[in-house]
Amino acid sequence: MKILITGGAGFIGSAVARFIIQNTSDEVINVDKLTYAGNLDNLDDIFSSDRHIFEQVDICDIDKITQIFVRHQPDVVMHLAAESHVDRSIDNPMQFIQTNFVGTYNLLEVSYSYWCQLSDSKKKIFRFHHISTDEVFGDLDQNEQPFTERSPYKPSSPYSATKAGSDHLVRAWGRTYELPVVITNCSNNYGPYQFPEKLIPLTVINALSGKNIPVYGDGLQIRDWLYVEDHAEALHNVITHSDQGQTYNIGGNDEIKNIDVVHRICDILEKLHPITNGTFSTYRDLVTFVDDRPGHDKRYAIDSTKISSELDWRPKETFDTGILKTIKWFIDNKNWTDRVLSGAYLDNQNKGNS
Ligand code: NAD
Repeated sequence: MKILITGGAGFIGSAVARFIIQNTSDEVINVDKLTYAGNLDNLDDIFSSDRHIFEQVDICDIDKITQIFVRHQPDVVMHLAAESHVDRSIDNPMQFIQTNFVGTYNLLEVSYSYWCQLSDSKKKIFRFHHISTDEVFGDLDQNEQPFTERSPYKPSSPYSATKAGSDHLVRAWGRTYELPVVITNCSNNYGPYQFPEKLIPLTVINALSGKNIPVYGDGLQIRDWLYVEDHAEALHNVITHSDQGQTYNIGGNDEIKNIDVVHRICDILEKLHPITNGTFSTYRDLVTFVDDRPGHDKRYAIDSTKISSELDWRPKETFDTGILKTIKWFIDNKNWTDRVLSGAYLDNQNKGNS
């Protein structure tokens, strides 16, 4: 099967591309604009595979996206390309509206024209899989039940609003034009290759270099954490086995307060990477509470019963096992971090096939 992935040089997209190349015989057409969040270093393990083709293209450029479909004739589409950082969406919402909303619309238009001219057998296999977030459901009080596939949409930030809007577009193309779509809404991911603006890589990297570890507000916000490789496996399961029109929530069943995440990382680092300089005595000393993010959601929690029972998917990692793997990866891959922090990875932007 030929799988067109958008956003495949980002954190989750590269994990999906690696999963497919390393565990299946499928081919990947990897379409990515290479924004600051796209990094070809993330694809080092698979870049030279003859089943992986990279195309540096902006999903907002409908002509180029059309050419990609004509040239590569994908069997299915997994759409991950997005602007993904809530803080950036508060500072610059327009880029989020362009990529997350208009870009998704472009892909739907191109996918629909393409799908219309497929043979009946190829039409049946085709899926437009939209990868979305649990943030579209807004937040939960302490005693509320976790989000299900029937939870109402209540996004809080420009990021989650544009993702919610794109979910609605995808459902509309499914209902109105009968394009075979499927949507997944996932909780917070963590793992190797995550850009160090997000809580977990920022904490690990700042701690390793003896810098302050910023924590928003009181740090009592609760997130459900999923190891990225578990997410990649879930997404491949969905694209290969899901019926059209389905929606699945994907989570790690691991609700933890942000401050507890940070403290656990600090405590693991005490053992894995003992402090040698004398300016602080424990990693926890580096924690610094900073002004809370405007509109910050209090709690997310995901009910993954549907994907577990229908597609037999469950996360393999607990937070304890996944965070240990993640911290070890960052310790062992300092070169990746150095290239990201210095901006040197951006020099690679023209390494793509087109
Ligand atoms: P990321 O920011 O790490 O990667 C996004 C990728 O999209 C980058 O490679 C970037 O270059 C590319 N991109 C951005 N704009 C583009 C454009 N206009 N055209 C083509 N490519 C473009 O994001 P991520 O964390 O890997 O998230 C991937 C998807 O999963 C997103 O849709 C996000 O909403 C969703 N998601 C993320 C999480 C999470 O915890 N990270 C959780 C649930 C859902």
